[in-house]
Amino acid sequence: MVKEAEVPSTTQSSSQHQARPSKPFAGNLALKCPECKEMLVGRDWEKNLKVCSRCSYHFKLTAYERIELLTDTDSFVEVDSDIISVDPLNFVSRSQAYDAKLREESENVGLNEAVIIGHATIEDYPLALAVMDFRFIGGSMGSAVGEKITRAIELGIEKNTPVLISSTSGGARMQEGLYSLMQMAKTTAALAKLGEARLPYFSLLTDPTTGGVTASFAMLGDVTIAEPGALICFAGPRVIEGFMHVKLPEDAVTSEFVLQHGMIDAIVHRRELRQTLARLLHFYGKTNRKSSEFLEESHSHVHQTK
Ligand SMILES: [Zn+2]
Repeated sequence: MVKEAEVPSTTQSSSQHQARPSKPFAGNLALKCPECKEMLVGRDWEKNLKVCSRCSYHFKLTAYERIELLTDTDSFVEVDSDIISVDPLNFVSRSQAYDAKLREESENVGLNEAVIIGHATIEDYPLALAVMDFRFIGGSMGSAVGEKITRAIELGIEKNTPVLISSTSGGARMQEGLYSLMQMAKTTAALAKLGEARLPYFSLLTDPTTGGVTASFAMLGDVTIAEPGALICFAGPRVIEGFMHVKLPEDAVTSEFVLQHGMIDAIVHRRELRQTLARLLHFYGKTNRKSSEFLEESHSHVHQTK
């Protein structure tokens, strides 16, 4: 259940615009790495793409920071920024009604949903992309997130370009109940259509990627890559330990663990992500062209032999 926002979050009335809000600058502020407890100077930390210079801990990025990191300057064009969730179940938790929660998150985070979608280029290779933002209700997938992810995939089909989805999510959005779970099937079906169109899908997993997002589009990449040390799982370690009454091995649900067990294809440091994606776009673009050329040749051959 989604609708278009009555008041767009930007002054432009079009649902298609370039959006890049100004970032707060950490400057001389110091912050502590949660992993190794090193004190980091804000300016150096930002220069280092928000990665700890001592232990390589990857801090979370906002959706727009991620887009800036990955895509060519000014190439990103956002679409469907005015799609927002409604409250189909009139859900009220112990502390707050869902529609009040949506309004509050919008004001606090400056986004109207947990994903930004659009098209851009990476080293001149065009692609459609969806980038999730953990700050908006834990990057949870409600019907608006599912709709926007689906539209990003359909944009790839329409423009005949590969699709990249950068995930970070606590899973399905419980305030939308079944509507939220239905997004798993919907996004998966859209990816099947992308596959039928012989277009590649690259999935980037960032800290954390869990629940219904892991159990649907995040794990369906033709190539699935993750940032180092990211939490990647369906159920979180505390839930598993509580339910199974076992102690999980250390780092049992990190990128490194899931790579070792064959669930993803590679772990890529943040500073190498852009080049890695450019290489994939180059390789799969060529493969795709070759496949379609091959098909055209086969068809013309069939035609000639009739
Ligand atoms: Zn550190």
